[in-house]
This record gives sequence, C-alpha cells and structure tokens, in this order.
Amino acid sequence: MTEEKIGRVVKISGPLVVAENMTGAKMYDVVRVSEHGLIGEIIELNGDLASIQVYEETGGLGPGEPVTLTGESLSVELGPGLLTSIYDGIQRPLDDIAEKAGDFISRGITADRLPRDIKWDFKPVAKPGDKLLGGDILGTVQETSIIEHKVLVPPGISGEVVSIESGEHTVEDEICVLRAEDGTERKLKMFHSWPVRVARPFKKKHLPRTPLTTGQRVIDTFFPVGKGGTACVPGPFGSGKTVIQHQLAKWADADIIVYVGCGERGNEMTDVLNEFPELIDPHTGEPLMKRTVLIANTSNMPVAAREASVYTGITIAEYFRDMGYSVALMADSTSRWAEAMREISGRLEEMPGDEGYPAYLARRIAEFYERSGWVDALGSGERTGALTVVGAVSPPGGDLADPVVQATLRVVRVFWSLEAELAYQRHYPAISWLNSYSLYGDVFDEYYRENVSPDFPDDRSKAMAILQNEADLNEIVKLVGAEALDAPDRLTLDAARSIREDFLQQHAFHEVDTFCSTEKQRAMLKAIITFEAEARKALSAGAPFKAIDEHPVLEELARMKRIPEEEAVATIESLIERIPKEMAELAG
Ligand code: ADP
Repeated sequence: MTEEKIGRVVKISGPLVVAENMTGAKMYDVVRVSEHGLIGEIIELNGDLASIQVYEETGGLGPGEPVTLTGESLSVELGPGLLTSIYDGIQRPLDDIAEKAGDFISRGITADRLPRDIKWDFKPVAKPGDKLLGGDILGTVQETSIIEHKVLVPPGISGEVVSIESGEHTVEDEICVLRAEDGTERKLKMFHSWPVRVARPFKKKHLPRTPLTTGQRVIDTFFPVGKGGTACVPGPFGSGKTVIQHQLAKWADADIIVYVGCGERGNEMTDVLNEFPELIDPHTGEPLMKRTVLIANTSNMPVAAREASVYTGITIAEYFRDMGYSVALMADSTSRWAEAMREISGRLEEMPGDEGYPAYLARRIAEFYERSGWVDALGSGERTGALTVVGAVSPPGGDLADPVVQATLRVVRVFWSLEAELAYQRHYPAISWLNSYSLYGDVFDEYYRENVSPDFPDDRSKAMAILQNEADLNEIVKLVGAEALDAPDRLTLDAARSIREDFLQQHAFHEVDTFCSTEKQRAMLKAIITFEAEARKALSAGAPFKAIDEHPVLEELARMKRIPEEEAVATIESLIERIPKEMAELAG
C-alpha cells in the first residue's frame, strides 16, 4: 500500500466518518482511519470532504484523527486458497482474525486473504512463446481434492510468455513473465486482486438455456432456475429456508458454492458457521467446504461490512465462473444488506425513498443480480462458465410489498414462495405451488422435451391445472364439505392430494427422498397424471368413485418417492403400464 496523503476526521456518525483535506481521493478508494488503521471506503466526495464507510467499530474515534489514502479500491484477492475459507465481509479469514484477536474482530487487523505459507503444485498449461490474453489459463493447481484451480491471466493483461515456472510455489512467488507488445515485461503470480464493485469482464453473456437441476422436485419440475439465472426466496422464520439452502448447496449441479450470510440475530450466522463445515458433499463423500467459500457477517460486525459482503461474494463467484465452472451463489439475507444501505444512506442524510431505503436501492439490487449469467469466459480459448444467484429476502412480517422484495422481483426470473403456513402444516419444502413462478418455463420446455421426455412439459401443465382446480374446489369444500362434490371433482381432489403429498413434498432428511433425479421426477409425474386420466375415463364408464378412492394404486403412488434411484424408473414405468388396465377393470 502506498500511503500518499493524510486527511483529518471531522465527524463520526456510527459507521460513517467524514474527513477533510481529502483532495485527490477517488470514490470507492480504500482509506485507513485513525492510529488503529481502521479499514474504510470513500462513498461520497464533496470538495475536499470525504464520507467514508468504515468496516470496523468506530467507537472511541474522535475528530482530528488521521485518514490515510491507500490509492486502492476495495478489492479481493483471487487465487488458490479461496476454497474452504470462511471470510468476513471484506475477505479477512475469520479463523486467522479470531486467532489474532479473539472471537470479536478487533480493529485495524489485517490478515492475509489467501494463505501465504501453502505451497501449491503449479502445473503450467501455457509455455514460452505462447501469446496470451487476459482470462487465459496459465496453469492449474489442485486446490482441494475435488477442485482444480485454473490460474488465470488477469483481465486487461496480455503478452507473450517469456518464462513459466512449474512446481511448488506460494501465491506470492512469480510464476510467469509476460512480454507485452510494447516490450514491457510483467511478472505474474498465482493470484491477482480485483475491485469488488466492478463486475469481472467476459466475452459474451447468453440467456440461460439449461436448468440448474437441484434434485428437489418442486424446483426442478415446477419452478426451475436457469444455470446462470437468478432466483429469489423469501424466508419467514421457521419456513425451512436453511434446509432449502443446504439442499441446494449439496445437490444443485454447481461445481462451486459461494454462500454469503448476513445474519440478523447473532446465532443465525453461528448456525451457518457451525453447520456448513459439517455438510458432506453427496457427490464425493468429502466435506462440502472443499468446493465452498463462506462469507459471514455476524451481528457483532459493523453494518458497512455487511454492505461489502455481497460484493466480495459475487466477485469470488465470478472468478470461479471465469475458470469455466458452474457456480451457485446464495445470499442470505439480502434484506440485511439493504438495511445496511439504508443505515449508511440515512447517516449521509440522503433523500430517503420507500420505507427509508435510499432511492438507489432498486438499482443496486438490479446491478447485483445482473452479475449472474452464463457466459463465454474472457480469453482466446472457448470456455463457458455459469453464475447462478439465489437471494433470500426476509421482509418484516413476511410482507411481499416490502421495497426489497419488490425491487428483487423486478429483476429475478424465479420466485420460490416459501410460506410459513405450509411449514406449519409440515408440507416441506414449504414452497407454494400457487404463488411461486419461473419465467424460464417456455425456454426450458424445449430443453425438457429434448432431454427428458417429449411430454414432460405437458404433464407438468396438467399437474398445475389440477392443483389450481383444487384451490377453486377448496372454496366450495369449505362451505359445503367434500361429500357434496360430484365424483369428477372428488377425483380432482384425490389427484391434487397425490401431486402435493407424493410429488411436491420431499423429505430432506430421508436417504432416498433427499435427492430425486430429473428422470425419476418425470416418471413420478407421469404416473400421477396417468392415474388421473385413466380414473376419469373409468368414472365416465360407470366405475364407482369409492372404488377409485380406495384403490391400492394410490398407495403405490405414495411409495414412489422412496424407491431408490437405481430401480425407481423401471418400477414406476411398470406401474404406469398397469394403471389403465386396473382402472378399466373398475368400470366392469
Ligand atoms: P428457517 O431456516 O426458515 O428458520 P429451517 O430450515 O431451520 O427453517 O427449518 C425448520 C425445520 O423444518 C427443520 O428443522 C426441519 O425439521 C423442517 N424442515 C424444513 N424443510 C424440510 C424438508 N425439506 N424436509 C424435512 N423437514 C424439513
């Protein structure tokens, strides 16, 4: 860091510090405040006055204390050592900091963001004489037993390889010399820094064309999110938000998981910090942390760090996307982030918008989600990577009119409406089938027809129609009871119950049911739809409703979810074949 210039603190308001004599400073420059060297970032400039949001406790700070410019923007270090890390909002490893300072992060502590002592076995891919562009792969490092880290030429740098070193190196060692066209030589290390508020560049962004499969039936079949897409999930307390997030982290077909936690109550984050490292990756049997980066803000950390944490998280996620991986970022909860913005904005005395949130709330939220995508990575080769963003929101009182929910729904393509009422009835995952939506539906129908089965999208539409009919019929049932309905309507209720209980409900802790392949989902849905259609035919042909209602086929439908993957499709297919005959027999 170059310590160029000294300003003076004139005012302190919580996490916000105003300093004078700051000419020459730039927006978003990082500064060090006071003798303690507290880390802050300039968020407003007015003449020689700078407003600085400070990422550490400002208690005890007084006017007159020095402010030093670093000349750098708030950045993260990107290189081997990210995976398995647990960071705070400005990429300080929590373990290291806790060791240095006890459980509470004390002030001005700088810790290495990437470990400096680990020697990585660097295997060059490029060789002397190669002409490389920013984003090209210099070589690889086996970062954890399951993820190979691609060491990239930083964006904006290009040249001919003069030399490249294989073998054991720390991230600080120079492993490559590039000569630019003008003859200047540049030494590269295994890591580079990137400013968190600037989206990392790529060649081209595509509309997501493939779903991110999650093994969760209600998501994959009814409300799929695209690989490189965006989803929003509101999280009323106790509605199963944590379980959903763990399920996504474990089962989504993403290579890398970045989890950004902004806890409100201290114990919320503590749960995440305790639970995540315990999760086992079902694909490898290894700890899930081997392909995970955690960013944690506990409630005892200053609000400004919360504001920074989503940017730190998404920049790390983009970096793995640039390597060609499929990355899933989960932010929980973005409401805490928005509240941090509100607090800082209030202290800047900006004109408040809805509910006191700053007028730029919607833009910031949109900019964040726009960093998702399925992209052609930078560089000379052909490499695609995906970054899927799932944001949890926790509006006060579960009110969906909340400005954060509204701003989020305007930009995301998928809404999984977690409802406390369903959780109360122990319908898990408590995702409402009536209020949720996925705007990828049409795009993915084509994918499903080609890759799953030609009639899968139609079966899904039929199932949804049955559920909607059920909702209408329930209004009548409330008034007059189910017995008053005629047989075809009662059949609709039976079919709807089967869709809800046998298909939508999925037990996260059942060894088989925890994950359901798309192929099995297709077969299960087909079985229920076939039952409904064939039973309806039988009714028209004179079968008594009671015989259908009590038919053992219904029990077979209920057992489908627990049939192990290896035999599931074959067993369900044979059931589908039997249903028409068994129903026809009822009509005599
Ligand atoms: P939240 O994080 O929203 O407060 P949790 O995710 O901790 O709620 O869920 C609360 C409880 O609900 C869990 O401890 C679990 O018993 C139950 N639960 C939630 N989702 C499922 C699921 N898919 N399968 C089984 N049980 C679930």
